[in-house]
Amino acid sequence: GIGRIAANLGTPAYLVGGCVRDFLQNHPMPDIDLAIEGDVRAVAEACSAELSGAQCTYHPYFGTAILRYPDGFQLDLARCRIEHYPAPAALPEVQPAAIQADLIRRDFTINAMAISLDPEKFGEFLDPYGGRTDLQRRLLRVLHPHSFLDDPTRILRGLRFAVRFQLQLEASTRGLLEEALTQNIFARLSGARLWRELKYLLELTDLPAALEELGAWQLWPLLRPTPLEVEPLLAKIRRGQQEIHWFHRHFPDEKLCDAAVLLTILWRDIPWAAEKRLHYWPVTDGRYILNDLHRLSEIPAALAKASHPSAVAQLWESLSLPGILALLAEYPETDTITKSGRYYLLKQRGLTSPLNGKDLQAMGLAPGPQLGKVLRHLHDARLDGAIKDKETARQWLIR
Ligand code: ATP
Repeated sequence: GIGRIAANLGTPAYLVGGCVRDFLQNHPMPDIDLAIEGDVRAVAEACSAELSGAQCTYHPYFGTAILRYPDGFQLDLARCRIEHYPAPAALPEVQPAAIQADLIRRDFTINAMAISLDPEKFGEFLDPYGGRTDLQRRLLRVLHPHSFLDDPTRILRGLRFAVRFQLQLEASTRGLLEEALTQNIFARLSGARLWRELKYLLELTDLPAALEELGAWQLWPLLRPTPLEVEPLLAKIRRGQQEIHWFHRHFPDEKLCDAAVLLTILWRDIPWAAEKRLHYWPVTDGRYILNDLHRLSEIPAALAKASHPSAVAQLWESLSLPGILALLAEYPETDTITKSGRYYLLKQRGLTSPLNGKDLQAMGLAPGPQLGKVLRHLHDARLDGAIKDKETARQWLIR
């Protein structure tokens, strides 16, 4: 339907990018991208009017539109364009163009294929750079020699594709990668753009494989100094992923920055002098991670010494949630530390003092720091099982 609607408006439409690649590999296609040679807004609005139930959102700034169907299916429409990079790693200037020119601005041959939706050429396969052959040979190849210098985020995108689809860097592309690294191209990239790509990387299910690939591509310095021994670090990452799963299973509605857990694990053994190199920290919860990294080494010994449940809970409380999970990842699932941390998260974290500030004031306590202290004691007494409810709390206070 969309191809016909677009054709009626005189603007050919094509399936492009990742969905063509996924289609050729018989992979599910989570999102569908359409390239439109003419007026995106007109096509999107006509589709929304003529096709049942699709809701259209148009973004004038990017010249893109999204069509959302009631069943969750989504189509992204973008104007075919060429890009010009005014400087290495700068954001591109864009101009409208035809499909062939649109394909060459893309990152890799495997992402530079298109399928026509135009009723007259329906299904015509456009593959000017040999993406299909590269996919069959499992090769990752850029479209032109300046590609990584124009946009170094492509290097990390490439790494993700290499891991997801088991691709090798094609020989000349490997040369271009080395050249881009020699030119220290990532230093020109803004911290926010670099961090976004690294976060996608950390979210890969097969993160251990991605980190191995990161080493093979000489890219460890983007994340941390190259580890002397990779395997123990990867084992900890696997444990970290287990703890993240455990947490999401038990707290499906609670937000957790998975990447912060993994970063804490990755940065745990870095000498402090290296901190400054991690210039994208401000974008994550860097402050918390830093605090955790300073505290983590002390916690296990302190836990061993803690005599009351309230003392144990206070130690766990001194870490952020990602910091707790990162520490659990250092121990086997059956270790007492893991059990203690999980118990804190499941049972102790949510406990509050049975009496609140108002109750205490009604009992005659003046507001101020003293009241805060009493609340803290009540909270500890609750954790230690000395009180259960308002009544036992009152009696405990009077005693
Ligand atoms: P995924 O399955 O991860 O979504 P995708 O290929 O669809 O894979 P997107 O980030 O959605 O990834 O990008 C869609 C298409 O846009 C890509 O296939 C590629 O052709 C193009 N593209 C995206 N980012 C870049 C980039 N930095 N440089 C060049 N082309 C890009």
